Amino acid sequence: MVCCMCSRSVQILSRQLKLSQLRVFHIAMDTVPPAASGVRSASSFLFDKAFVNGQWVTAKSGSVYQITNPSTGKTIGSVPDMNADDTQQAIEKANAAFLRWRETTAKERSLILRKWFDLTNQNKLELAKLLTAENGKPLKEAIGEINYAAGFIEWYAEEARRVYGDVIPPTAASKRMLVLKQPIGVAGMITPWNFPSAMITRKACAAIAAGCTVVLKPAEDTPFSALAMCQLAKEAGLPDGVLNVVTSSRDNAPSVGNTLCASPIIKKISFTGSTVTGKILLQQSASTVKKVSLELGGNAPFIVFDSADIEAAVQGTMVSKFRCSGQTCVCANKILVQEGVYERYVARLAEVMKQELRVGDGFDDSTTQGPLINSKAVDKVESIVEDAKKLGAGLLYGGKRSDKGENFFEPTLLSNVTVEMRCAKEEIFGPVAAVIKFKTEEEAVAIANSSNSGLAGYFYSQNLSQIWRVAEKLEVGLCGVNDGLISAIEAPFGGVKESGLGREGSKYGIDDYLEIKYVCIGGL
Ligand code: NAP
Repeated sequence: MVCCMCSRSVQILSRQLKLSQLRVFHIAMDTVPPAASGVRSASSFLFDKAFVNGQWVTAKSGSVYQITNPSTGKTIGSVPDMNADDTQQAIEKANAAFLRWRETTAKERSLILRKWFDLTNQNKLELAKLLTAENGKPLKEAIGEINYAAGFIEWYAEEARRVYGDVIPPTAASKRMLVLKQPIGVAGMITPWNFPSAMITRKACAAIAAGCTVVLKPAEDTPFSALAMCQLAKEAGLPDGVLNVVTSSRDNAPSVGNTLCASPIIKKISFTGSTVTGKILLQQSASTVKKVSLELGGNAPFIVFDSADIEAAVQGTMVSKFRCSGQTCVCANKILVQEGVYERYVARLAEVMKQELRVGDGFDDSTTQGPLINSKAVDKVESIVEDAKKLGAGLLYGGKRSDKGENFFEPTLLSNVTVEMRCAKEEIFGPVAAVIKFKTEEEAVAIANSSNSGLAGYFYSQNLSQIWRVAEKLEVGLCGVNDGLISAIEAPFGGVKESGLGREGSKYGIDDYLEIKYVCIGGL
């Protein structure tokens, strides 16, 4: 496939190419299945331009880059490869739009978001097909993601009308003391490829509901889902310049990111992606003392205590570990199993993995495990498995590249894993279940907390005292007790330690896009 994480592999087409040659809708069609007759097709949501100030635009340089389906390696299409100049232009448009958008009423913003939600729902299947084509995840999971993404649009349509200030009992009879909440300004956003739709609506809709405008850079591998969202937002009546999407290749990502972070116009940066990139953006935002939200990598512990319901724990592992082929930030990463139930758990997990997991193309109904995002991701997972085997882990299932294609890796079960192995220390980001045996609760909590990350953590126990103790001790932002799938629109999402800053979703998510202003009226 063309599109791997190596920057050289991104094909930059020269500006000498005629525009007609850059139109790729037709090339793309053999990678996106057609719609049933009468339904808007997935291809009608495939845009080969970026979206700035309500217009479909090319890069000033004329450069484009290609996006491929990670399952087949076929080209889906191309989008503009934008740079710092293009980003600056988008920032200025977003700033002009902000001056108007902040004057709208909460109800006006709410009604537009609500319409956007309805349109997303109406086109759910076609949006999901586009997502599967560019990300590779099974269509059923893609539909789930579109539901999740739409849910954030709906949620923030509702939250827009619930931004309340305060009236403070005054310190003198002649004074009145108030707290106002005001939109922070233009927000810069950078999102990853593993949830190409939901990570956008979770951020952008909070900002838009608060009265902010947005300049967003989606991941190189998955720009089409972002652009499709822009089309629906436009149809819903979102004014020009409120949502702007700047597409760029991995080569240009640092300059686009730096332009957002260093701009004095941008008042807020919201990023979801790796911890390494998050630290760079945090540093770059320091010069303008920006408010920054970071949703970064995890290394989720998944603990099974002796008292656990083993069948429930295995089912919880399956859903937590293998969603999106193990490429989610909240995937179980180091699975810790107490010695009394270790053999039973491992045997049952191996059995269920064999029964339930099917590797293949995301458009095949029987597929539960799509490809990894690109060949570099497969290289990383393969080297993590090799490291574990070399250091003495047992291989109970899988363990190698799949014959389904270049980007596929077999679901893998490793036993007798130790804390020295890379699969315990690093975020695996692939379909590898790494099981560590432990003796005591203290030991499990210590291993769980030994990481610099602190996003999600899970444990299975039937002991009520233990449930309270461990839930309080785990150093994570999200804790699943006897449950492996805990993300919800209504619940706060975010990490502690190096997993990030701030919370998204829930009643707290909109706070990141609001400034608190204290107003004291004297002389009354
Ligand atoms: P990544 O390399 O950090 O990329 C994420 C985004 O940042 C992409 O849009 C990428 O653009 C951009 N980017 C990369 N380098 C940049 C730079 N120097 N300046 C500005 N932007 C830059 O992360 P990833 O490996 O694709 O994504 C997986 C990671 O995201 C995992 O660690 C996962 O745990 C984390 N994640 C966290 C959450 C959460 O909510 N906590 C959710 C999902 C994923 P290009 O694609 O063009 O390189």
